[in-house]
Amino acid sequence: MAVQWIVVCHLLLTLLVVISFLCGHWPIFQGTFIERINYFITFGFYDYFKRIVGAVFGSRGTDAVLFVEYFCCDRPNPILQIIYLAIIGGTYYVIVKSSFSYIPGYYLSEVHRYTSLLAVAVGILLFLLTSFSDPGTVNAENVSHYISAYPYDNMIFVEKECSTCKILKPARSKHCSICRRCVARFDHHCGWMNNCIGERNTRYFMAFLFWHFLLCIYGTVAIGLVLAGQVKELKVIYILTVYYGMENSFRSLTPHVVQWLMVSYNTQILLMVFLAIVSLLLAGFFAYHANLCLTNTTTNETFKWEEYLSWQRKVHEAKASTAALKASISGLSNERKPRESKWKTFFRRSRLEDVKIVKDNIYDKGFLHNLCDIIFPLSTRPSFSQAKSKSG
Ligand SMILES: [Zn+2]
Ligand SMILES: [Zn+2]
Repeated sequence: MAVQWIVVCHLLLTLLVVISFLCGHWPIFQGTFIERINYFITFGFYDYFKRIVGAVFGSRGTDAVLFVEYFCCDRPNPILQIIYLAIIGGTYYVIVKSSFSYIPGYYLSEVHRYTSLLAVAVGILLFLLTSFSDPGTVNAENVSHYISAYPYDNMIFVEKECSTCKILKPARSKHCSICRRCVARFDHHCGWMNNCIGERNTRYFMAFLFWHFLLCIYGTVAIGLVLAGQVKELKVIYILTVYYGMENSFRSLTPHVVQWLMVSYNTQILLMVFLAIVSLLLAGFFAYHANLCLTNTTTNETFKWEEYLSWQRKVHEAKASTAALKASISGLSNERKPRESKWKTFFRRSRLEDVKIVKDNIYDKGFLHNLCDIIFPLSTRPSFSQAKSKSG
């Protein structure tokens, strides 16, 4: 029974750390211990570490840490790419070592030895495509066309020059401070890919997320079927009911079967738990990005919209309080009809406060059009080069 509790604690702890790390900054976790764990993992721990290094090794130690930080966080580097390859390679290796001896089994045919390898290879191929493809770098030659691709909405995108690249910034583009270039329809800089996610490679990035979600589900189900096959082949149910005289019902047998699996196949159980957690995280991440793609928004634009809307709200609040102040002054001067002017003031104020500040995304042209923008980026279409030659 002790093994079971270790697995459960391991599962809960992993889940807590992963959720805190990835989602701890979300508004729903504000003020909770998940937010505090997130702060500690993402900032607090590193801050303490820097202080300790500074206290022990002085300014030379701090400089060395800052140099490593600069190299790891502010410049393109392959650290996370190597970690990704280590995770996918390591997990596949453990699966081969621990579970391939049971394939073919009662529920799995031999073909899964090859399809699993193929599935992993496709995953790595999508990773390489996303990592090494051009995200849509804007340069002096193509800037005129990228400018004509998306109009400025004069809300979150206004016509201005990139202070580093010294070219006009097309609407929806952003200068990536890590890659030191302007990227069209910029989504975010992905550390795992060591590349920006932009106009031209969002499709590969989405395919990568979806494929890895499927890959994890495939792994979880296949290992589950390996274990189910072992239960069947070793006649575990038969032994439990006939030899130990247990009642042949799902409720009475399940705890014993689970306990037996946890003791005899703990590697497979841990792999299943790991793959299930990763598949859930990937599903969430994919759903978030799919929603952005289908509404023709980018991660960068969600931040810009947040800023824009909160600024608009402040402007409206300021207008409302100015109007209320004016109304109360006029109410004071008009002493003959104080009651009526108070009502007027009330309605005038509520009308201003009720102004709905809404996001008006001019790039959202409907589900199919938005999907087309992702699968066939504007800069890959023949019209792109035609417009380029026209403008050139
Ligand atoms: Zn730039
Ligand atoms: Zn970048």
